[in-house]
Amino acid sequence: MRAGSGGFVASLGSLNIALPPIVRMGTEEQKKRFLPQVLAGEKIAALAITEPGGGSDVANLQTTAIRDSDYYIVNGSKALITSGCRADQITCAVRTGEEGAHGISLLVIESKTPGYSVSEKLKKTGWWSSDTAQIYFDNCRVPVDNLLGEENQGFYGIMGNFQSERLQLAIIANMTAQLALEASIQYSKERKAFGKSLKSFQVTRHKLADMATMVEVSREFTYRIAARIDASVDQIKEISMAKNFACNVSDKVTYDAVQIFGGYGFMRGYLVERLYRDNRILSIGGGTTEIMKEIISRFIL
Ligand SMILES: Cc1cc2nc3c(=O)[nH]c(=O)nc-3n(C[C@H](O)[C@H](O)[C@H](O)COP(=O)(O)OP(=O)(O)OC[C@H]3O[C@@H](n4cnc5c(N)ncnc54)[C@H](O)[C@@H]3O)c2cc1C
Repeated sequence: MRAGSGGFVASLGSLNIALPPIVRMGTEEQKKRFLPQVLAGEKIAALAITEPGGGSDVANLQTTAIRDSDYYIVNGSKALITSGCRADQITCAVRTGEEGAHGISLLVIESKTPGYSVSEKLKKTGWWSSDTAQIYFDNCRVPVDNLLGEENQGFYGIMGNFQSERLQLAIIANMTAQLALEASIQYSKERKAFGKSLKSFQVTRHKLADMATMVEVSREFTYRIAARIDASVDQIKEISMAKNFACNVSDKVTYDAVQIFGGYGFMRGYLVERLYRDNRILSIGGGTTEIMKEIISRFIL
């Protein structure tokens, strides 16, 4: 994130959401086939859960994988997939069984599979350096050997994976806010208005003090949750809180940073302008703010 580009982080980071299900659920043979080349930077991996019909309601996904002797025949499509244009392999959620959460499996699908195709790079508000694509499956024959874990048990793998994805998004949000804060502090010392630096106005100082406080609190909370996850303590509720809190902070801090920069904050080429745009996806990707609140309320009520 020190590079100042959330898109750069997202494009490098697609492997951080695509590989953990293979690590957790895969056989030794699958790990040998699907991990080393991605970790060596020779292949690109993506995670494909979201479909054109919806991303929040994962249990309702419609891409089918019908068993045909040693293969699954996969039909359907995935939407808004990070690194989708360039991915050599995707960790893909498919329906192998009944309607609902109990009919979902995870398959690794290689992009060279006949019937696999990809849209143009989609145009986005932010994250320009990360490609996002629609992926289509037209009778793709995927070896049964590519199934991760047990058939129809994929939903639990997806939910487990969300915990680390949400942690990553909280960290990206905290760093987005941190960078916006640092740029604002610097600018408030340099920029003059009415013959004085911006920092000489109490309104600017207080705004910066609020921004710094929110960033600090959010980071410390996220670190606490990260330490618990590292100690293998389930943090489903807490990571949902951390993601929402961090995104609220980065929403507010990037907005205020643009305000402090005045008209230049709206101009391409300024870091705060990019942070403001790149930030917008953080409260949508990996589970929206509303879905995080649904999860939290299930725990507290
Ligand atoms: C740049 C980018 C990169 C992405 N990368 C990936 C990726 O790599 N892999 C992947 O699988 N997906 C990816 N996504 C998809 C992302 O995870 C989804 O956009 C997200 O989960 C929301 O799904 P949706 O867009 O279909 O919105 P919908 O599910 O249609 O939701 C629309 C709105 O309704 C609200 N809503 C829905 N259900 C409820 C409810 N029960 N209660 C209250 N409100 C509700 C939502 O919060 C949202 O505000 C990416 C998206 C973007 C924009």
